[in-house]
Amino acid sequence: MPISRRSQRILDTLHPFLEGMMGADRSHPDPCDFLAGNPQEMASREYVETLQKWLEPESPQWFGYGTVTEPAQVAAASGLSAELGIEFEPADILLCRGAHGGLAGCLNLVVDPGDEVIYISPPWFFYEAMILSVGAEPVKVHVRPGDWDLDVAAIEAAITPRTAAVLINTPNNPTGKVYPPETLQALADVLKRKNAERGRPIHVISDEAYSRILFPGTRMHTPASHYPYSLLVHTYSKTALAPGQRLGYVALPPDMPDRAELRMGFFASALGSSNTLPDAVMVYALGDIDRMSIDLQALARRRDSMVSALQEMGYDLHSPEATFYVMPRVPGGDERGFVERLARDGVLVLPGRACDLPGYFRISLTATDDMVQRSLPVFEAAIKELQPVAT
Ligand code: PLP
Repeated sequence: MPISRRSQRILDTLHPFLEGMMGADRSHPDPCDFLAGNPQEMASREYVETLQKWLEPESPQWFGYGTVTEPAQVAAASGLSAELGIEFEPADILLCRGAHGGLAGCLNLVVDPGDEVIYISPPWFFYEAMILSVGAEPVKVHVRPGDWDLDVAAIEAAITPRTAAVLINTPNNPTGKVYPPETLQALADVLKRKNAERGRPIHVISDEAYSRILFPGTRMHTPASHYPYSLLVHTYSKTALAPGQRLGYVALPPDMPDRAELRMGFFASALGSSNTLPDAVMVYALGDIDRMSIDLQALARRRDSMVSALQEMGYDLHSPEATFYVMPRVPGGDERGFVERLARDGVLVLPGRACDLPGYFRISLTATDDMVQRSLPVFEAAIKELQPVAT
């Protein structure tokens, strides 16, 4: 076998994603692309000019090894403190290459080979692969089917002496759920009880990639307000909607025990794996990018028009509280056939099995308003074709 058994297992976990995302039929000349949380319009002038500003070197070392990170850490700590109502120290902002980099850093930091990591399904595509990459065993726990909330009793039942971490994602991709404070408190109570029985704490790795993509009336809640062993993973990929420009950080809450060791451990794992620091220009630009956001009102209008139009046509779906995603049930139940039917008319959606939610499909609202309008007749025709013809 040319690749290691671990690589083969990782590849196997990625199969539904590769098939759904990469395998989509893109032959239509002008598709309505709802596949990924990717930009479909030109980046804002504000974003482009910010990068141009910081591209201009101010010293010979500007693009050298050893980028000065302190101003970025100060800016990120100030932005996150205002967002979550917790006072973060700049030194506890560990810069990295987006949430993907932050998640890898956290897993390296607190998980040993042979450990178990509990992750929540439906998950982000790469959690299982990333857990396997550090030599640990992924342990899947489903959310509650009715309201998409964490099933804390099921998490408790999945904890073993080998559990090193629980990986959660709030606001959640793909369900759009923000876990409420009561749930996070219940999770914290369970973990504190378990910790008291063992010599080593269970860490919560909280993927908060969408913490600022909230619809009106929604508030962000973080496990860090309830549980000190929480590692918070943040990114600018969503607010700036420029995920090809890698920038994010892991934040350690102020009541996290042994913070100094964790900071050094993160640094060590960065050096031990590869250079995980964002590129210099992104580090310099962080303060400006932290203040930017895509137009959340326009996103909310797009959500409302998509959700209400689909509901009127007879689709079964809920309105998400946050994130870019809408998750209708596949009418008729044939996920593969239905997704291919939409693609034939140029409407590209992600099959639910790509995020371990068979029987659903995911629509990304990062598409343009024009794509939403052009897609509606296709969605309507596709559901009508499945209804029995009245005789
Ligand atoms: N976590 C979740 C839940 C995501 O949806 C994404 C991107 O889609 C990421 C992490 C990765 O984000 P980044 O581009 O910052 O690596």
